[in-house]
This record gives sequence, structure tokens and C-alpha cells, in this order.
Amino acid sequence: MAEQQSISINPLDPEEFRAQAHQMVDFIADYYKQVETYPVLSQVQPGYLRACLPESAPYRPEPLDSILMDVRSCIMPGMTHWLSPSFFAFFPATVSTAAFLGEMLCTCFNSVGFTWLASPAATELEMVVMDWLARMLKLPKSFMFAGTGGGVIQNTTSESILVTLVAARDRAFNTIGIESLRKLVVYGSDQTHSTFTKTCKLAGIHPCNIRSIPTSFHTHFAVSHVLLRKVVEADVAAGLVPLYVCATAGTTSTAAVDPIEQIADVANEYGMWLHVDAAYGGSACICPEFRHYLNGIERADSLSLSPHKWLLSYLDCCCLWVKEPGSLVRALSTDPEYLRNGPSRSGSVVDYKDWQVGTGRRFKSLRLWLVLRSYGVASLQGHIRSDVRMARLFEGFVKSDRRFEVVAPRLFALVCFRVVPRRRRVGPGEADAMNRKLLEWVNSTGRVYMTHTVVGGVYVLRFAVGATLTEERHVVAAWNLIREGADSLLKNAHSLCT
Ligand SMILES: *Cc1c(COP(=O)(O)O)cnc(C)c1O
Repeated sequence: MAEQQSISINPLDPEEFRAQAHQMVDFIADYYKQVETYPVLSQVQPGYLRACLPESAPYRPEPLDSILMDVRSCIMPGMTHWLSPSFFAFFPATVSTAAFLGEMLCTCFNSVGFTWLASPAATELEMVVMDWLARMLKLPKSFMFAGTGGGVIQNTTSESILVTLVAARDRAFNTIGIESLRKLVVYGSDQTHSTFTKTCKLAGIHPCNIRSIPTSFHTHFAVSHVLLRKVVEADVAAGLVPLYVCATAGTTSTAAVDPIEQIADVANEYGMWLHVDAAYGGSACICPEFRHYLNGIERADSLSLSPHKWLLSYLDCCCLWVKEPGSLVRALSTDPEYLRNGPSRSGSVVDYKDWQVGTGRRFKSLRLWLVLRSYGVASLQGHIRSDVRMARLFEGFVKSDRRFEVVAPRLFALVCFRVVPRRRRVGPGEADAMNRKLLEWVNSTGRVYMTHTVVGGVYVLRFAVGATLTEERHVVAAWNLIREGADSLLKNAHSLCT
């Protein structure tokens, strides 16, 4: 029988761990050293990997060496290299030695810190780190454990929005009753991240009650509080109940910033929960010169920011601060017998399971703690400024070339731009097609990866600086490549039309 032939192993032999982990660290360090030599955007076809690997798992143990060989030959070709210094797509996913070491420690303990008692250090370090980061962002005490609020590390922005939305919903039920669910309305703009709609559905908000306020070139794609107020007033007049508004500091398409202060006026007046999604832009606010983008934050109910996007932390890490932790806990707390313990019952500790969707949670604050301690605030500010300086350089290139235009103001390290055919005969559809072609060509070279968006009905190229390994020379090389693409594209377009 198979059982009799089974092979016994020691899954965590410390000496074997030491040897193999050293080997893996060498592998990783070599990868980081060579990442520049790979095509940034993976060039494989769908389903490529199935053909590369066996149909079933191996019956007998395999050595690490042969697994790593397959990583090189099968996995690597299918990787889009987010760590490449020539990765300018989406928003960056930043990394650092300190965060990696923190990740190693986090994985080392494998603590499942659902309650304070499950690992007091895991809960308390998270509380300390969230207050540290709040101070770096000059958040008011009302968002800190040192004051009356507090912070928690979620996995993603989506979860931050979901838990605050559920807290706001249940708070509303207290006054208007659970039967009013159908009447609750939530507000964002057409630039709010798509996850907002998904989250609202998860929270039981009726799809017809999810408002998307239109934005335009005129307001640089920030939401107009005047328009927001109009929509809210119309809803109230129709007997609906405004519940939650999501403002964004650094939208996903163009990094636009919604006017938090004016939105807070509307939110406060109608008793709505105001959440500020600063997933990307928030990190910049540790620098005094960017902090004004969070002006008015003291009047919001919650704020989320993802250090994995710009603050040198590995995925996934989304920091959420709330003014009134009690509303989160009331909405999300559970009390099963098997988790009961003295400290929780005493009410003197934070049980983070009551601040999130799941029960189990990793000791992620170690990563942020190592980042903050290893680099200090000054270097983190320097890191943000260096990315912004490189983006400004790229913006200068775009502005100096008559064939291009910058489409939306550059507030952070994202440049939104496009080719503008100067000849009158080129219609808007044709211009979009040209930009699409240019993007496809640039990405097909494997030397640079950029992505696009559509705003105000216009196809736009996005150049997001911020991959940890990017240096000025990579930005210059990317621009030269884009220019090269534009040269041949415009030449061909010209010959096609004349
Ligand atoms: C990236 C981004 C998100 C999505 O974040 P997840 O953590 O992947 O859910 C949400 N909002 C903004 C503004 C973003 O830039």
C-alpha cells in the first residue's frame, strides 16, 4: 500500500533551512542584479506554463536545485518584472531590503494574531507603527491610538473601503433601522477606483444607489463639491439617505486629488461617513511640500494609504486609520467561545480580528517597522522626492517635444501624456489609435512597460516613476524609446495620408 512506502521528512530542519534559505537569498540577490536584462512585460502566450510543467505533483521529493532550474526556465519567462527599473506601468510596487527582512521575520513567526493574546507583540507593534506613520503624515490625534482613534494594517484598499463602509452602514442602521438598507446611497466620482463599486455591492448597497459624479478636464479630474452637493440634495429630496462618500488623494488614472475640505462640508452637513483613499498619493504626504493634499483630513472619518505602492513596503500592505474604532468593532466583532480570553473580556486590549474581514492575520507591522527604522523619515522623504524629480524630468521631455502634450497636471510622480498629431485632418479617433499603437510598440520591445487610461474621452499614456531600482538613466532611455516610436509612427501616418 502507498502508505507503507511514504517517505518521512523533517519539514523544518533548522540546518537544512539555513542552507536552502541561503541558496534562495543568493538566487534573489542575483535576480535583483539582473532584473534589468529581462523583457519588462512578459511576452508569453496564455496557457504557456501548462505545457512546461508535469500534469501531476511529484510522488518523491525533488531537490531545490531542480526546482530553481524550473523557476529559471518556466517561471521567469512568464514574469512581468515589476521590479525592473524600466517598469513605468500602473503605479509602482515598491520594495526594499528592510521590508524584505521584515517580511522574513513576519514569515518566521507565522503568528496568527487575531486577538491581543494570540501574540501581544504583533498587536502592539502594529499600534505603535500606525501611530508613527500617522505622525509622519501629520494626522490629527483623533486618528491615533495616542488620541481617540487608531490604525490597522489591511491587505488592500478594497478591504479598507469595505470595513469602513460596513461600519458606516451599521452606524446608520442605529438611527434609521436595518429596513432602510435599500435607501442608503454612496458617492464617488468617475475617477474613484473601480473597487469602490465592487465593495459597495459586497456591503449590500443597491447598485442603483452607487453614485459616480462625473469629472472633467476643467477640474483636472478632481470631483466638484458643487456637483456632489447637487446630487446629494436630489437624493435626499427623493427620500434616500446619503451614507458614505469616498474622496481620492491621487486617483488611479491621473493622480488627481479631490478637495477633501469641501467634500467634508457636504459630508458633515448630511451626516455621511467620509473616507479618503490615498493609496498612492498619501505616501508623498510625509513630505511637508505635499502634505496640503490632505488638508481637511481632520474632518474625515477614515483614511487609507498603501505603503506597498510608494513607501518601500512589499505587497500587500494597506494602512487604514479611523477616527471612531468603536464603529468598526461594533460592526465586525465576533465572540466565539474558542477565542475568549481574559484580556479581551476586560476590554483593555485591541483585538484586530474585529477591525478586518478575516480572523487570522499576519504580523505585517514588522515590515513597516523595519522600513521606518532602517531608513528613517528623512530618507523616505528623499525617496519620494527623487521619484518626483525624475517624473518632472520626464514631464520636461514631453513638454519640449511639439509632437506631445501633457494631458493632466503632474502632482506626484505620474506623467499623463499623449501624441498630438498636428495636422488638421487627423480626427480624435485617429489620435487615440496612434497613441494605442505607440504604446503597443513601446511595450513590445520589452525595454519599457507603460500602461494607458482614458479620461475625458481621450486615450492617454501613463508614465509612473517609482520602481525602487529606477534611476535617471532609465527615464532618459524610456523617453528616447518613446520618441523613436513616435518618429516611425508619425512618419508612417504621414505617408498613409498624403
Ligand atoms: C491602487 C489603488 C487602489 C486599489 O488598491 P487595492 O489595494 O489593490 O485594493 C484603490 N484606490 C487607489 C486610488 C489606487 O491607486
